[in-house]
Amino acid sequence: MPDVFTQEKRSHVMSRIRGSGNRDTELRLIQLFREHRIGGWRRNRPLFGKPDFVFPKNRVAVFVDGCFWHGCPKPKHSPMPKNRAEWWAAKLQRNRERDLLVTRTLRKQGWRVTRIWECDLAKKANWPRIAGRIVRALERQAPPASCADREPKSKSAKVKVLGQPMASRRR
Ligand SMILES: [Zn+2]
Repeated sequence: MPDVFTQEKRSHVMSRIRGSGNRDTELRLIQLFREHRIGGWRRNRPLFGKPDFVFPKNRVAVFVDGCFWHGCPKPKHSPMPKNRAEWWAAKLQRNRERDLLVTRTLRKQGWRVTRIWECDLAKKANWPRIAGRIVRALERQAPPASCADREPKSKSAKVKVLGQPMASRRR
């Protein structure tokens, strides 16, 4: 049975396949962060499900989901290959279940999880809305001032603060 996609269509589909963790989409999101002055993000943090971007202070994890692998709701973005259709259906179903598991697990661990569709990010007209979602997530998870001790440099500052009351009590 021949491939259901024409060569051109197939390469288009395959180009979307790497999706999450794809270099182009990551660079696009970095550009969005820059244009909307969103700072504090990190990459490659060893968290469950490997989020594409993490804001460690605010405990916000961001995933950019590739349309094909993650089952974009727009049907043309996640076309079911007709060849080995059952295998593909099972495979893509497992991916969706995995995404749910990752989101739920991170939420249980106190992370706020934001998922962005690759196709959404591809259109620059959507960027203000996407940036708004991320900013709202960051604001909701904003750490109280006393929790700013996740950065290594403030560890010593905390020790000093703890030392002072002890000294004053002795007087
Ligand atoms: Zn899509």
